[in-house]
Amino acid sequence: MNQNKLFNRTRSHLAISYAAVMGLILSLLGFGVYKAIAHAHWVAIDRELASVAGTLHDSLEIKLQQPGKLEPIVNELLPNLRVTGVNGWKKSQPNRHILTALDQSYYYIRLFDYSGNLIATAGTYPATLPPTFNPQYWQTITDIKGNIYHQISVALHTKTQEDWGYFQVGRSLQDFHNYLNTVKLILKLGLPTALISIAFSSWLLAGLAMKPIYASYRQIQQFTADAAHELRTPLAASQATVESALLMPQLDEKEAREILRTIDRQNRRLTQLVTDLLLLARMDSQTNDGAKSVSEALEEDRPQLCCLNDLVSDLVEELAVVARSSEVALISEIRVQQQLKVVGDADQLYRLVTNLIVNAIQYTPAGGKVTAILDCSHQEAIIQVQDTGFGIAEADLARIFDRFYRVNSDRSRHTGGSGLGLAIAQTIARAHRGSLSARSQVGFGSTFLLRLPL
Ligand code: ADP
Repeated sequence: MNQNKLFNRTRSHLAISYAAVMGLILSLLGFGVYKAIAHAHWVAIDRELASVAGTLHDSLEIKLQQPGKLEPIVNELLPNLRVTGVNGWKKSQPNRHILTALDQSYYYIRLFDYSGNLIATAGTYPATLPPTFNPQYWQTITDIKGNIYHQISVALHTKTQEDWGYFQVGRSLQDFHNYLNTVKLILKLGLPTALISIAFSSWLLAGLAMKPIYASYRQIQQFTADAAHELRTPLAASQATVESALLMPQLDEKEAREILRTIDRQNRRLTQLVTDLLLLARMDSQTNDGAKSVSEALEEDRPQLCCLNDLVSDLVEELAVVARSSEVALISEIRVQQQLKVVGDADQLYRLVTNLIVNAIQYTPAGGKVTAILDCSHQEAIIQVQDTGFGIAEADLARIFDRFYRVNSDRSRHTGGSGLGLAIAQTIARAHRGSLSARSQVGFGSTFLLRLPL
């Protein structure tokens, strides 16, 4: 298959299209997963900040007494509290903090008075942050170094419900961005790796899918070549006969009749060949298009029963002349008491068994014996055609049912065979939901076994 350009191209197209579609789906999926992770993380950060801010708000408000003034007790609540003094920052360091969440290194707190002046900071406060106040509830701000922070602003009141000012709780988004960058990196590395594996497996799968198509393509190619070859032989013979007749200056009646007889013989051969091919084509299309088998169609339309006892004895009687002329003994052996009847096309079944008996006579030397046996077992009728002829070698036995296959071309051609007889017989057997098989021993003879459901 790899040598065939058309199949190779189709296989590549299939693999590329499959990989492209899968790549697109995976990219969209990766993008979706990335967005979902980022969103979930962002929501978690918001929730955490809101929770810290809520706790801080409740803890601070009950301690505050004068607007804009920090009570000393606040020092116990907030870690790392730095209060803006007249001469800069005044740092206080309590031993224990009530809001332990703020001990985590990435939180900072800013306290503003009601006019928006920064009073104090706590936690891990980055000095690079602009000290300007913005009362908006959620904010994402950037410091002078370009670091991004996310913060929440909440109004504060004193114990007596006077406006005290505001506080902001915020945190750096550095870890959030680091996390997202790691996810991005995993997706960026994972996607091409997955795509390469998909492309490779698509190539393998496309090859597997093309195999049966390629096999039937080769079969059709072979069949066309064989059919053309078989048709050419009688045509060439007729043409040669006509050409040689035309070269003769004069033809007497005897010569003319002889020439016509030759052309008639070749024409008959051609007609037989074309009829056989048509029969095979018709049966193939029935089988491949999922149409009903002959017996199924007959069962539904007009049930036609074919008596196999009659079939065997009729054929043995009819072909006795052929057997006698080949000096072969042809006998029938009916091993059943009752009449065995199968649903099917009687003409086709007669054709099938005729092929088997004629072959057996043709490939049995003078003095040999051909026996047509009718038997039955397990709801199946069995017809065996046994001969004491040349036999068929093991290697050929597997191929004799192939179209146009002849074991010994010269001898088969001499007998008028085209190699379609057994192929037709097997097709008819299958169309009747039966089977046809053969066993043979070179020099001892062959047995063809036909099984048909009763
Ligand atoms: P043909 O029309 O050439 O006989 P068939 O399809 O009927 O073609 O048979 C295929 C080949 O199988 C024949 O060429 C022949 O060599 C072999 N064959 C068929 N039947 C027998 C038999 N009974 N004994 C030996 N060889 C046989």
